[in-house]
Amino acid sequence: MMINTTLPVPFRQRMQAQLGAEYPVFTAALTEPVPVSIRVNPQKNVWQRKDAEPVAWCPEGFYLPERPVFTLDPLFQAGAYYVQEASSMLLADALRRTARLHRPLRVLDLCAAPGGKSTLLASLLTNDSLLVCNEVIRSRVPVLRENMEKWGYPNVAVSHHDPEEFGALAGFFDIVLVDAPCSGEGLFRKDPDATLEWSEENVALCAGRQQRILSAALPLLQEGGLLVFSTCTYNDEENLNNADWLHQQGLESIKLEFPDVWGVVEKSRNGVSGYQCYPHRVKGEGFFLSLFKNRNRTGAPTPVPRAFRSLKPLPARQIPAVKPFLRQPDAFSFYIKPNLEVFALPEVLSADLRILDAALYNKGFGLEMGVFKGNDFIPSHALALSTAVSEDLPAVDLNREDSLRFFKKENLVLDSSVKGWLLARYEGLNLGWLKGIGSRVNNYLPKDWRIRMDIREY
Ligand code: SAM
Repeated sequence: MMINTTLPVPFRQRMQAQLGAEYPVFTAALTEPVPVSIRVNPQKNVWQRKDAEPVAWCPEGFYLPERPVFTLDPLFQAGAYYVQEASSMLLADALRRTARLHRPLRVLDLCAAPGGKSTLLASLLTNDSLLVCNEVIRSRVPVLRENMEKWGYPNVAVSHHDPEEFGALAGFFDIVLVDAPCSGEGLFRKDPDATLEWSEENVALCAGRQQRILSAALPLLQEGGLLVFSTCTYNDEENLNNADWLHQQGLESIKLEFPDVWGVVEKSRNGVSGYQCYPHRVKGEGFFLSLFKNRNRTGAPTPVPRAFRSLKPLPARQIPAVKPFLRQPDAFSFYIKPNLEVFALPEVLSADLRILDAALYNKGFGLEMGVFKGNDFIPSHALALSTAVSEDLPAVDLNREDSLRFFKKENLVLDSSVKGWLLARYEGLNLGWLKGIGSRVNNYLPKDWRIRMDIREY
């Protein structure tokens, strides 16, 4: 919880100037508890709670009356929901109003880790759309990958590149999201330590960095494509100035008519509109969003390479070992990497993925199915969590306690004589793989996914 006196003095002065008479109500809101909210995964639709209050701008979003220990909820581990601050979910409504979401789209989330907006985008898109989630900071890529694997959609690619390294994908995307690194003023209540990093110099630094990211993002859009620029900060230097700059680059600012009762504040300058959430006006943290249509011409479409550079087709004799793991195997083609990892790529995305494969060197895409060890096929954890996995595979339903023991990577004693691969399941959702070997059942949870918390304390 934040108290007014811990706010940096120049920040207070700026906010007083920005909010005028509203400033005391704003600072009072910073002393209130942070609302807890989650967004459910529409393709793993099992989460429900009668005491949850809906988020007005996102039908998949809900406020919880208190903060549970999410780590110890097997549904959270299975990707049934993502814990996300509610203001950020405004992105869902902005795109539902403006994008042709019923069509196959190519979407890039350029600053994606840890994956909050990527999971939101994935849920908005059709299954034959392509979502590329990129993160430039190496140490943040694993959490992004893990969150996207949990969410479970096979039409997702995760890449690790500087925005300037996307040049070969000029004109490729229908939607680009730049959820930019920022001075984080909107998170002061949630993370009071963020105030320590705040300075006027840092605001200026962030504003410049954002403009560099935006200038790398612009050429990636198709003519008529949408650019979303968002931050979790309040100042005009980062928000409106950069929105204004986008307008000067030939983009059209799109006005969004959010209902007044939502409390989102429209900020306008020179025909450019941005939308600001303040914690004293919405039930959520500080967030800024602006949306643009690209009016600039793009060059010729990117040529489609004939083959994948980083993958070889899986030999025909190995295909029967992997197909039964999928609900609709004929919707995929199968490939193998030099390290023997097998991937299922949605047929419908084949051309787009070949383009991506040629354009980016540090990326992964499609559904990681598993790996061959001799003649044995070891299915991957990502496959267990995928929405594409077959519903007809042997499975065992675990109670909450055994589910948590599964996530502690303990071996379970189960009343099961099944030999071979077995899905561990909780309330109808897959948690991962077990393997029955006659005398016992081995737990195949990857060790990086193991929860470290003591499960008996709760
Ligand atoms: N979109 C994420 C979500 O909803 O979970 C949050 C993104 S966070 C606001 C901004 C991200 O930009 C961080 O993951 C950060 O590592 C990344 N970033 C930092 N510097 C960057 C740069 N120069 N270019 C691109 N991304 C950068």
